[in-house]
Amino acid sequence: MTLHLGAAIAHIASIRTELATRTGCQEWEQAGIRAALIATEGAPADVSAAACLAAGDPGLRLPSVNGFKAHWPKNASESPRTSHNVPCPDHPGEHDMPCPNPSTLTPEQVAQLAAEVKAALAAAPAYVPPAIVRAKNQEEA
Ligand SMILES: [Zn+2]
Repeated sequence: MTLHLGAAIAHIASIRTELATRTGCQEWEQAGIRAALIATEGAPADVSAAACLAAGDPGLRLPSVNGFKAHWPKNASESPRTSHNVPCPDHPGEHDMPCPNPSTLTPEQVAQLAAEVKAALAAAPAYVPPAIVRAKNQEEA
């Protein structure tokens, strides 16, 4: 969703606070409103309207994507969506999975890289937990 997030959060929080004052329902924290707004995909007008309608529902305990989707306006420009996109681990920031250009390493190249990693791990100094280091330093002092 693209809109003035801070203004939207403040507006939705004020709707909820007014409702809580009137009905005794739970108020919504701004961090939760922010997270739900960011996670809800759709046109800014649709997401904003759904969030405002959800904030006015005393039966909705917390702001959430599902809560917003349940209050999606009937005359919205499109149906609500939720992002399940997973970024490509090999090309983060470029595209989501599945990768259109998967790794073209040969099994021999993979084996070579694995051998290099194993050798680097074997050559690295052993990890000593910080608590053990502190204890040894105190014993010596
Ligand atoms: Zn990729």
